[in-house]
Amino acid sequence: MSNNIQGIAASSGIAIAKAYRLENPELRVKKKTIDNATAEVERFVQAVETSKNELEKIKEHAHKELGADKAEIFSAHLLVLSDPELLNPIKDKIKNENVNAEVALDETAGMFITMFEQMDNEYMKERAADIRDVTKRVLAHLLGVGVSNPSLISEEVIIIAEDLTPSDTAQLNRQYVKAFTTDIGGRTSHSAIMARSMEIPAVVGTKNVMEIIQNGTMVVVDGLDGVVIVDPTDEEITAYTEKQQKHEGQKKEWAKLVNEKSLTSDGQEVELAANIGTPKDVKGVLANGGEGVGLYRTEFLYMGRTELPSEEEQYNAYKEVLEKMEGKPVVVRTLDIGGDKELPYLNLPKEMNPFLGFRAIRLCLEEQEIFRTQLRALLRASSYGNLKVMFPMIATLDEFRQAKAILLEEKEKLVQAGTTVNENIEIGIMVEIPSTAVMADIFAKEVDFFSIGTNDLIQYTMAADRMNEQVSYLYQPYNPAILRLIDNVIQAAHKNGKWAGMCGEMAGDPIAIPILLGLGLDEFSMSATSILPARSQLRGISKAEAASYREEILSMSTAEDVVAFVKEKFNV
Ligand code: PEP
Ligand code: MG
Repeated sequence: MSNNIQGIAASSGIAIAKAYRLENPELRVKKKTIDNATAEVERFVQAVETSKNELEKIKEHAHKELGADKAEIFSAHLLVLSDPELLNPIKDKIKNENVNAEVALDETAGMFITMFEQMDNEYMKERAADIRDVTKRVLAHLLGVGVSNPSLISEEVIIIAEDLTPSDTAQLNRQYVKAFTTDIGGRTSHSAIMARSMEIPAVVGTKNVMEIIQNGTMVVVDGLDGVVIVDPTDEEITAYTEKQQKHEGQKKEWAKLVNEKSLTSDGQEVELAANIGTPKDVKGVLANGGEGVGLYRTEFLYMGRTELPSEEEQYNAYKEVLEKMEGKPVVVRTLDIGGDKELPYLNLPKEMNPFLGFRAIRLCLEEQEIFRTQLRALLRASSYGNLKVMFPMIATLDEFRQAKAILLEEKEKLVQAGTTVNENIEIGIMVEIPSTAVMADIFAKEVDFFSIGTNDLIQYTMAADRMNEQVSYLYQPYNPAILRLIDNVIQAAHKNGKWAGMCGEMAGDPIAIPILLGLGLDEFSMSATSILPARSQLRGISKAEAASYREEILSMSTAEDVVAFVKEKFNV
């Protein structure tokens, strides 16, 4: 009998394949006295060799799939495993104290880690992190427990995990990873967003897939309805294969719209843009008929590595995106770190409420060198396309003014030095904090555009953590409170001759689209794979009709009323 697990549909599509558990094993070390120290040293040397071979393969693979910078992390790990300063004391400890290799490794490495961590030196702190990672790998081999190496997967699998960090997700190879499902997460958690940008089906927030699914078990991930089927029957496999084919057929229909404009049934045009995380994603944007990039989340450039990206590295990434988009608008968001996106190498203090803490523009205004480096890279790249810059997490007008002043200062310096900078860069903000949505009329006089970040705007307005399953019932995009804030922003923009876009996940949601169209949203930025379905949907909606419901919808009492109304009027 199969077992159906309900989760949250995070990325559309259906996949059927064997399960691959992404483990984070608990490594318990017990002290033992050994009689044959030579044999124990040999066992340790073998575990080191096995780890090195593994790391070599991972490094080679990472180099091919993810680029030289990501592969560098593994070079650093390999160096640790060849360092006699670490290896010799471990061997000596085994011989002198007759302890097992696990304990000798754990204690010696622990000593180095503490020593390096206490040094007031970034480089040494990074070495501590390398030693910690490598120790885990060697320990796992000594203890005979499996370590997951997702970047080495070489057959078709479905990843099963407790959670996936953005850097875990970045290691997955699209060729073999057919889908993933995680116990934790919601539609707007970053693993879900990454799944959509990788165009693989995903179901998140399943609560217990790790408990139920073993390695190698057949699994169906239905990213359309948010269901995971464990050990499907033959009938279920047939049914899901049919559903998969139907979905593929529908995708072919949508594909016919790839070069069409985004027009409503009464001939009104809107812009359908895409959210991207890396320059690699641009291919998917163009293949899905994106008319621009509405949100480039630059923080992925800073993640999954051990130090800040240089100005040159950033310049190359921004230039690549602008060039590939060939003059189409590209809205780049400056660094939005914090919340569920951590940068361990910044060594920021742990916070009680990271989502309400020292993050995004708050950090950039304080750590100005980080911010200025990014702005210089952006300004230098600006002459290669149609760049628009926006600042994340703006809560007050003063923050916007400060950020804009820094940008203009860097621009002036570059111009003085003879660098060509695009003169027409629009400067806007993300509206994701309620104070800013409420004050949109004031902001609209100074910003060039708004991009509404509903992923955060909803969590801050409803005081419901976007990652927390238990309060997900409060995470209500269609709550009239949210719709009124969105309306306020769009009205304020239009009264001041500015444009308003949306780059939160809501912009690609078929139930939200008719509402947002009626409220007058100018630009909808979504996962690339949502663009063609959205274009198809828009062709069947009259903007005039949608607009005629504006007041009625805004005066509704509950999210349920809104959804029922939209379903009835727009057939979604
Ligand atoms: C948002 O908050 O809506 C948004 C687009 O930003 P992120 O999901 O990266 O926080
Ligand atoms: Mg946000």
